[in-house]
Amino acid sequence: LVVLSDVNKWYGELNVLKDIDLTVRKGEVIVVIGPSGAGKSTLCRAINRLETIDRGTITLDGQPLPQEGKALAALRAEVGMVFQSFNLFAHKTILENVTLGPIKVRKKGKAEAETRAKELLDRVGVGHQAAKYPAQLSGGQQQRVAIARALAMDPKVMLFDEPTSALDPEMIKEVLDVMVDLAKQGMTMIVVTHEMGFARTAADRVVFMADGQIVEENSPEEFFTNPQTDRAKDFLSKIL
Ligand code: ATP
Ligand code: MG
Repeated sequence: LVVLSDVNKWYGELNVLKDIDLTVRKGEVIVVIGPSGAGKSTLCRAINRLETIDRGTITLDGQPLPQEGKALAALRAEVGMVFQSFNLFAHKTILENVTLGPIKVRKKGKAEAETRAKELLDRVGVGHQAAKYPAQLSGGQQQRVAIARALAMDPKVMLFDEPTSALDPEMIKEVLDVMVDLAKQGMTMIVVTHEMGFARTAADRVVFMADGQIVEENSPEEFFTNPQTDRAKDFLSKIL
């Protein structure tokens, strides 16, 4: 579904993405882990075309990522993204946050968009909060709204960049539970996270990045019990 081939990106002298080859099949859950500065966020942003790449190709459903204009807006709808900071529109209600994209980008009618938004908000457990504003919700609730907002666009793939790292511990689980559900329902997901429990239970594959490169790519079982490289061993010894 998503194919990265020889993807390279430089920030000045820094080769922040180095010869990245990665194929994500439909329904697969890929967990990306690695030390700070490895290029994990840059990789996510490249797939959503929030960043350009300097060499190589990225395709979605066999099509190269569009460069600009309407096609780019459509791409952003098809590649849902959830960030560490929830990025909700502060001056819109929870319901409006979720209906805005479908109405503006997907050209859905208001009633249809609202019905679907309520379904999605129920699904992530915040249906009763629809009339409130983001600031009136907890971090965990806001993040679940952000997930519902991305899902409202009927994305082909969902990218999560450390979706729980800004949350208090008691809220992490409620967000991870929603993500595990999504994975079970067959959503294609690329998840950058330090939550190794999630990686073990939900990932089909773990991709370990360091210094802009994919250093290891393996099943969670293999990766956690039998890491192949010193780099991965060192990383795991620090976080587990
Ligand atoms: P973290 O775990 O801290 O989120 P990361 O793996 O997501 O790290 P990136 O944010 O992708 O890492 O950054 C990779 C490298 O690129 C870092 O060295 C960072 O300093 C650098 N970098 C990121 N954005 C820019 C930018 N806009 N201009 C220059 N350098 C950048
Ligand atoms: Mg990052």
